[in-house]
Amino acid sequence: MLVLGGAGFVGSHLCDRLIRDGHRVTCVDNFATGSLANIQHLMQTNRFALVQSDIVKPMTFSEKFDQIYNLACPASPPAYQADPIQTIKTSVIGAINVLDLAREHEAVVFQASTSEIYGDPLHHPQHESDWGNVNPIGPRACYDEGKRCAETLFFDYNRVHGVKIRVARIFNTYGPRMAVHDGRVVSNFIVAALQNKPLTVYGAGAQTRSFCYVDDLVEGIVRLTNAPDEVTGPINLGNPEEFTVRDFAELVLGLTGSRSQIIHLPLPTDDPRQRRPDISRAAEQLGWRPTIAVEDGVRRTIAYFDGLLGKVEPAHQPDSATARRTATLRGMSSAI
Ligand code: NAD
Ligand code: UDP
Repeated sequence: MLVLGGAGFVGSHLCDRLIRDGHRVTCVDNFATGSLANIQHLMQTNRFALVQSDIVKPMTFSEKFDQIYNLACPASPPAYQADPIQTIKTSVIGAINVLDLAREHEAVVFQASTSEIYGDPLHHPQHESDWGNVNPIGPRACYDEGKRCAETLFFDYNRVHGVKIRVARIFNTYGPRMAVHDGRVVSNFIVAALQNKPLTVYGAGAQTRSFCYVDDLVEGIVRLTNAPDEVTGPINLGNPEEFTVRDFAELVLGLTGSRSQIIHLPLPTDDPRQRRPDISRAAEQLGWRPTIAVEDGVRRTIAYFDGLLGKVEPAHQPDSATARRTATLRGMSSAI
């Protein structure tokens, strides 16, 4: 198995899963947003190999791969906008390199596409038949249009060269191993709450997102990649439990027992107003649906960041309800 972007948040969980399933895994990463810490524990096994490389450059390998998973691309808006030209090169030139490799190896190739294909969606919830509503010249376009072009390339390689493709449109996914400074809403809110710092809600917080726990996503990725060849996708993978950003901030405050305030910052340009996956295709073609409720997944993620940041003293003496919640959380943290 070849996992491109395997040192990132989702990629490292996928590597874990593939190793657990008994496969030999090669991970390629340029460490733009990934980290060695995410895969350090795998370096002990002789079934795991790491190659530091950029998918924008053509790749050659002496061993033959059965499956190739392309997850290489920064996913957080601040990260992908920091170097937009590299982001679009990663999506487009990277996809060509990945597809050429899949063709050479006659491998099944999985593409981590995104709900950003739908842009600021015209229909709700989003179904795979929606063509999307994307601003092609805005600050998100390097990611959205890059991923859209990558989908085009995947389907053209399938039609022209018969490459066995699997395309998933992934909706907001969260969990342990998100980087502390990743910049996405789940890690931003949890890290701030654990430090009793303000939670930064962009705009009024009325925009919605639907949050999927990483283990559920990895199960969907593996099912799709092992599905029959006619199941090419695109297939939405996400958890339809939908929150306004404001309500999500309240959930994190409640689960952490934090005394953080909520503050409002300007809404970023072209921020999609609503997002929820229609997962009927995934249910029908893969028998897949998420199993981890958002509250449970957020608890696990809080426990992860709590361990990472160390025990952060509350700014104030907690009231008894808060103290109870925090105690439950700390008890759980050691169980995970
Ligand atoms: P991440 O930023 O944690 O991981 C991306 C990984 O790719 C990192 O390890 C990074 O160093 C590596 N990378 C970036 N550019 C590269 C390049 N040119 N060559 C080699 N490696 C490169 O992000 P993530 O959340 O784990 O996302 C993984 C994939 O899933 C991405 O393709 C992303 O677009 C897609 N996706 C994720 C989400 C989500 O909510 N997590 C949603 C939609 C799509
Ligand atoms: N957001 C927020 N505060 C933050 C980070 C993000 O209010 O500290 C909002 C952001 O404007 C968006 C939503 O949360 O509406 C999800 O943002 P994220 O960057 O996680 O992912 P996106 O779905 O926008 O790619």
